[in-house]
Amino acid sequence: MMSFESGLYVVATPIGNLADMSQRAIAILEAADIVAVEDSRVTGKLLHHLGLKKKMRRYNDHSSEQDRLSLVAAARDGVVALVSDAGTPLISDPGYKLVRSAREAGVEVFAAPGPSAAIAALSICGLPTDRFLFAGFLPSKAKARADALAELAGIKATLVFYESGPRLASTLSAIAEAYGNREIAVARELTKKFEEVVTGGAAELAARYTEHEPKGEIVLIVGPSADNVLFEEGDVDFALREALATMPAAKAAGAIAKRFGLERRDVYARANEMKSK
Ligand code: SAM
Repeated sequence: MMSFESGLYVVATPIGNLADMSQRAIAILEAADIVAVEDSRVTGKLLHHLGLKKKMRRYNDHSSEQDRLSLVAAARDGVVALVSDAGTPLISDPGYKLVRSAREAGVEVFAAPGPSAAIAALSICGLPTDRFLFAGFLPSKAKARADALAELAGIKATLVFYESGPRLASTLSAIAEAYGNREIAVARELTKKFEEVVTGGAAELAARYTEHEPKGEIVLIVGPSADNVLFEEGDVDFALREALATMPAAKAAGAIAKRFGLERRDVYARANEMKSK
């Protein structure tokens, strides 16, 4: 068995495919004196799958301070592993207060990184990833959800949400209402048998999922708004002129429309106008 220095180990676990458990994560769980878990039934199954029998302690951010400090004390002299039901702890999951307490107490905190649905979805959905904002679950009440969306409206980044099947359609409608028809990706059941990524406009996808409520777990990704990219008409003309120097009008129009979030046919018309001048 590998040995590890004492501390709190934040251990990511699979989001669906058990083979995504890292070797190091397994070794840490094996070496752990205590495994702090969100739900002992869920983690019990994982430990059983790994052939490990471990002392589990239930922990979430509503646990008492006494419970939290007792885990911190245990991590001072031993190996405490923190896991959540799936994915990376602290990412819409418990652990924040525990990590904070451990650091404040001068106890080492180590990452055993691995799966996280948000990152997995971003990595395959084809929306911009250079700037993104992870916003977790939106509130379920319509008014609070609309307020939260309004607050995020001006952010010049791709937005990442966790969502549930029964709520997806109404959330997409709320997004269409708040942001217009932005490009969306619905990443469902990642790493599992029915994994899929469906892309389209917010309104179109709202209609699709109103008709068929999706099953399983979902990450909802909202591409940045074209309005958020501040540009002047002259910028489009300039970029289009540059593009026309190296490619045919149709291709240039496609590229520029995409870059500025414009209708392809409008840009194509403008390209032809410029060429005829
Ligand atoms: N900590 C986890 C992580 O790092 O991904 C997320 C925990 S959060 C309580 C659970 C939510 O993550 C689900 O409701 C769903 O929105 C998303 N999720 C988890 N597993 C997923 C999967 N395999 N495919 C798509 N979304 C998933």
